[in-house]
Amino acid sequence: TGTPVTVLGLGLMGGALAGAFLRAGHPTTVWNRTTAKADDLVARGATLAGSPAAAIAAAPLVVVCVSDYDAVTDVLDGPLDGRIVVNLTSGTPSRARALAEEVARRGGGYLDGGIMAVPDAVGTADAVLVYSGPRPLYDAHEATLGGLGTGLHLGDDPGLSATYEMATLVLMWGMLDGFLNGVAILGTAGVSATAYLPIARRAVGTVAGWLPDYARQADDGSYPADDGTVDTHLAAMAHVVEESESLGVNTQLPRLVKALAERAVTAGHGASGYAALVEQFRTP
Ligand code: NDP
Repeated sequence: TGTPVTVLGLGLMGGALAGAFLRAGHPTTVWNRTTAKADDLVARGATLAGSPAAAIAAAPLVVVCVSDYDAVTDVLDGPLDGRIVVNLTSGTPSRARALAEEVARRGGGYLDGGIMAVPDAVGTADAVLVYSGPRPLYDAHEATLGGLGTGLHLGDDPGLSATYEMATLVLMWGMLDGFLNGVAILGTAGVSATAYLPIARRAVGTVAGWLPDYARQADDGSYPADDGTVDTHLAAMAHVVEESESLGVNTQLPRLVKALAERAVTAGHGASGYAALVEQFRTP
């Protein structure tokens, strides 16, 4: 049998985490504020603890996945001596760092984590989970955590996984808003979202292919205009704003995009490549 584990919080995600540990053969102790959510897991072999403190006492590795950090504080009750707390609750980098310090004061070790997957994917290699905190702690528990999905250790700073999460959220919203804005524009021509889909997916793939060059330029701070200047982009942005106005669709996103490019031009980057916009994101 595997290493014993405890899971605190059996919502949609916590329940999936506990189920994955059970499938991977770990003796799994669970606790949830609403006890009934443990029924199915208990039927599959989990042990239900009577309190968070009893659950924490039951295993050296304690995974927490509740709504937010206030709830984490509520459930991390009792002594933490010799426990490794793996907090997979979403939150901010500063709260992750503060919790790491509190857990250390109470005698425990801390890893922060982020789940870049939906509950259904948990327990498969498709589920990516990122972790940050002391490397030796991660190494010691990597095999156990591997039961949840593909694990990646990002670095020793416990705030890193929440920082990566922020970065990937803005990436996701940028893509989704761009797609939905395009759907609205095409809707004025009677084109359905489904009809647009093949072109949209291809465009996402094409743009993803540009990222290695953009990453290198952002790191180097030099932005050769290999494929087009900011000025050229700005002219197209002006057309999109004007056309969106006359079509009667929302203009907020194209206006924002245009304003950012204008700032880059003002900063002297009209003849630079588009990656120069990173400097606008680096300043308030
Ligand atoms: P749910 O709403 O399904 O579950 C929330 C859990 O938190 C429940 O177990 C709930 O207990 C518990 N909880 C809330 N407040 C308290 C409290 N004060 N004391 C004790 N327990 C409390 O949310 P999810 O499981 O979907 O999400 C949990 C975390 O996982 C979130 O941080 C979320 O961002 C993250 N996550 C979720 C993903 C998803 O696809 N669902 C994907 C990636 C991350 P009770 O059952 O008693 O209400």
